[in-house]
Amino acid sequence: MVAAPLHLPELGADASREYRLGIMGGTFDPIHYGHLVTAEQAREALDLDLVLFMPAGRPAFKLDEDVSDAEDRYAMTILATAANSAFDASRFEIDREGVTYTIDTLRALREYYPDNVKLFFITGADAILDLATWHDAEGMAKLATFIAATRPGYDIDQARARLTNSGVAFDVRYIEIPALAISSTNIRERVSRGKSVRYLTSESVIGYIRKNGLYNRHVIERVDGAQAH
Ligand code: ATP
Ligand code: MG
Repeated sequence: MVAAPLHLPELGADASREYRLGIMGGTFDPIHYGHLVTAEQAREALDLDLVLFMPAGRPAFKLDEDVSDAEDRYAMTILATAANSAFDASRFEIDREGVTYTIDTLRALREYYPDNVKLFFITGADAILDLATWHDAEGMAKLATFIAATRPGYDIDQARARLTNSGVAFDVRYIEIPALAISSTNIRERVSRGKSVRYLTSESVIGYIRKNGLYNRHVIERVDGAQAH
């Protein structure tokens, strides 16, 4: 039986050079400028050839929360990343059945790509603190380098100590990005209360939210009009 296509970008064709693939995982409900700045600065700092944005199908740590339809989260991810030629969006996790574990994604990518493609998993500061508690942390540490994006003033030593004490040998690169206290939760709340979300994410994503009535249709229509700024 032929395996289903993975819908992953081609990379690694030139065997004489190394390719560096960044993976930006998230729920992306919705994707916002915090995610985009993190990915762009990780790309620059670690000289990544491509950053693959991977909306989670059914996030393991958000099973008890309401998460928007995967197709909507994927569509917004495409819209937000479309203008950057070093960014790509992947259906890989949303096309999988069941709960999404990062280890499964990393294993699949490792099998799919030749050895001259190195994997870099990008996370925000909040996620890096918990890394050692993720499903099969040992396995993850063997498959990828981790890029932890911290804000100015963030206590890197605390994260470092927590990871060291966990006993899992993660290779973590810390990068400092400009502080952006933007979260998807805050965007959802603002939309549902009819408040403006302009400049928190791209106009294309805001248009998609509005057009599809995400996070509360009747309130969004007010955002559309002149009342909210
Ligand atoms: P939610 O509020 O629903 O939890 P979120 O804004 O935290 O959403 P996620 O999709 O959960 O977004 O996050 C995906 C990844 O992006 C995680 O690694 C997270 O740490 C990182 N991230 C989220 N927001 C920011 C931000 N403002 N700056 C830097 N990294 C971020
Ligand atoms: Mg989060």
